[in-house]
Amino acid sequence: MLITGECFCGSVKYQIDGKLKDARSCHCSRCRKTFSAQASAYALVDVDDFSWIQGQDLLTSYESMPNFGLQFCSKCGSTLCGTHNGEVHGVTLGCINGDPDIEIGYHLFVGSKASWEVIPPGITAFTEGPTDSN
Ligand SMILES: [Zn+2]
Ligand SMILES: [Zn+2]
Repeated sequence: MLITGECFCGSVKYQIDGKLKDARSCHCSRCRKTFSAQASAYALVDVDDFSWIQGQDLLTSYESMPNFGLQFCSKCGSTLCGTHNGEVHGVTLGCINGDPDIEIGYHLFVGSKASWEVIPPGITAFTEGPTDSN
């Protein structure tokens, strides 16, 4: 399937000729600031399926950890993708257009959620990473 995404101002656009994988939401303080929201909403993508179709020259990058970075639209500030070793590793679900045929499968670090966030019942949630017992 063909999935498209774009930033808030519409200057930067991409397409994914394939499927998104492993959609997740992380509620840690770093992800809250990265996504300017209560949590991240992110899915992995195969780098060979991903291509920028407009505005790639407007992208700004920030490496939050060695080899792991994020790319933003320098005009409107939308965070579009995550990178690993300079290659696209995943996309922010908020910038996707329409239905990408995936749902967030699990929530991470709900133990560090913001005091103002209410976690809805019924979700798969982990206090920390996905290997702890809750
Ligand atoms: Zn933009
Ligand atoms: Zn996080």
